[in-house]
Amino acid sequence: MFDYHIHSQYSVDGKMTMDEACKQAIALGLDEIVFTDHIDVDWPDHTFHLDMDNIEKYINEIEAMQQKYNGILSIKKGMELGLQPSLLDEFDKILDTFPIDFVIASVHVVDGMDPYLKNYYLDKTKEESYVRYYEEILMLIKAFDNFDVIGHLDYVKRYSPLEWEEEEHLYGLDIIEEIFKILIEREKGIEVNTSGYRHISDAPMPNIEIIKKFAQLGGEIITIGSDAHSTDGLAFSFDRAIDELKEAGITQLTKFNQRKPEMVSI
Ligand SMILES: [Zn+2]
Ligand SMILES: [Zn+2]
Repeated sequence: MFDYHIHSQYSVDGKMTMDEACKQAIALGLDEIVFTDHIDVDWPDHTFHLDMDNIEKYINEIEAMQQKYNGILSIKKGMELGLQPSLLDEFDKILDTFPIDFVIASVHVVDGMDPYLKNYYLDKTKEESYVRYYEEILMLIKAFDNFDVIGHLDYVKRYSPLEWEEEEHLYGLDIIEEIFKILIEREKGIEVNTSGYRHISDAPMPNIEIIKKFAQLGGEIITIGSDAHSTDGLAFSFDRAIDELKEAGITQLTKFNQRKPEMVSI
């Protein structure tokens, strides 16, 4: 198996070194991991900013890990870009400069607010909290093309202070379908983010029903990632996710090498 969403200490909220992550991946029997540390410039509260110097150091350290674990563990270079309208040109520049294997495009900030900080939900119903978030993703992917998958599509679920509803993954479905059509047309995809199994919904992000919808519309690019920030999160609930994906009729997951997808049967 392979984990395509991992944060090391290069992310402000990362609690493991790259070396600790690699050792844990080997202990778990993974074949491949991708470091996808945050590039979140202009975050509302404090700065999650990896500047150019740090990105160079980040890439160098991944290359050192590749050498150290050569033949034992495949280690890829990734990034999780925190999309905001004002940052898109800077992201293009970063991706032109550095040799990256895999890019997750995530929306962490909408209208200057990160749902993580709760003020995002203050003036919204549950449905509005989803719809506004999906609208922002749709607007951003119309303007930006330099990514491989959308991260944690239903991110607003993770931090919502509003009481969870069984069917809330269906809010904003028409916008989700519009997002999927653009992704499919451009041969991009979504991730199955297994950190969602820690949430009361007990489902990945997005919900399996939504992943199924992506596949039904013709979507093929699907990666799996734990969004681990510490070693105990690596490959979290992957066995369960794979079972549920298979039940939903999904038979392949995607790996990336220098931004090129490769399909792997599950
Ligand atoms: Zn994220
Ligand atoms: Zn992440």
